[in-house]
Amino acid sequence: MKKSPLFSLAVFILLLAIGLLISVTFGGNTVSTYRFDRSRAYTDVEMQLSFGPRTPGSQAHQKTINYILEQAQNAGWQVELHQTQRMGHPITNVIAKRPNPNMKQIIIGAHFDSRFYSDQDSNPANYNQPVPGANDGASGVAVLLELSRSLPPNLPFEIWLVFFDAEDQGNIPGWDWILGSRAFVEEIPINPAAVVIVDMIGDADLNIYLERNSNPQLASQIWETARNLGYEQYFIPQYKYSILDDHTPFLEKGYPAVDVIDFDYPYWHTTQDTLDKVSAESLGIVGETIHAWLTTYD
Ligand SMILES: [Zn+2]
Repeated sequence: MKKSPLFSLAVFILLLAIGLLISVTFGGNTVSTYRFDRSRAYTDVEMQLSFGPRTPGSQAHQKTINYILEQAQNAGWQVELHQTQRMGHPITNVIAKRPNPNMKQIIIGAHFDSRFYSDQDSNPANYNQPVPGANDGASGVAVLLELSRSLPPNLPFEIWLVFFDAEDQGNIPGWDWILGSRAFVEEIPINPAAVVIVDMIGDADLNIYLERNSNPQLASQIWETARNLGYEQYFIPQYKYSILDDHTPFLEKGYPAVDVIDFDYPYWHTTQDTLDKVSAESLGIVGETIHAWLTTYD
């Protein structure tokens, strides 16, 4: 059989169409694989809340450690536990790493514990109840976990996602604030070029002001990234609070660190810090900002 020019043209068009289909499919996959998915992050908040309040020593606390390990490992990260003691309490920080020897180190952190007592509750009868910690605890963990799934591989630095234990137990006899991050900075050899802490960033009514103790250069990079994404109304470039948080031990050692926190949260340390106060949109706004900052960092 002799091929007609028309037949050749038909084959050519068919091959072109297949090629186009393949490139669209792969292109589509590539884009979605490395996109911060806010609904997956919200699922992480739901999961943590389903365990119950993650107070130190509780079953929910242990389940959260296991969940973080499992999620980060499934996303291909090298995971390890930093186990130690402070003030007589066991402390377990969870570290997920993408090692990249001889490259700069970046640490993104969030605390995973929830507070033993809702001592800011308007009803004194609730003071002895644990804080559900949907925003204060679960939201930061969710952003880190979704970063673990969505950050492109081979970023030109070494990145650690650190889930800190025992941040939130200050003003309780026998405890203090930021025990986990203090222990981490004291015991783990690190030399970060930048440290970003996210805390209370799931509030559906999101207002993140500049925090006064944070490194100003690093903060302006992140607020600038948010502005470029159209999120200036949420990352407000004005100073408001001065906060003791997991960035503090890093700052004390001279490392550039920033606290990304929305402290305008009326349910802070109350029994009302529940799932309905958190939105996937807010997790997405913060997650996309950190994601974009990381993927353009050099
Ligand atoms: Zn707190």
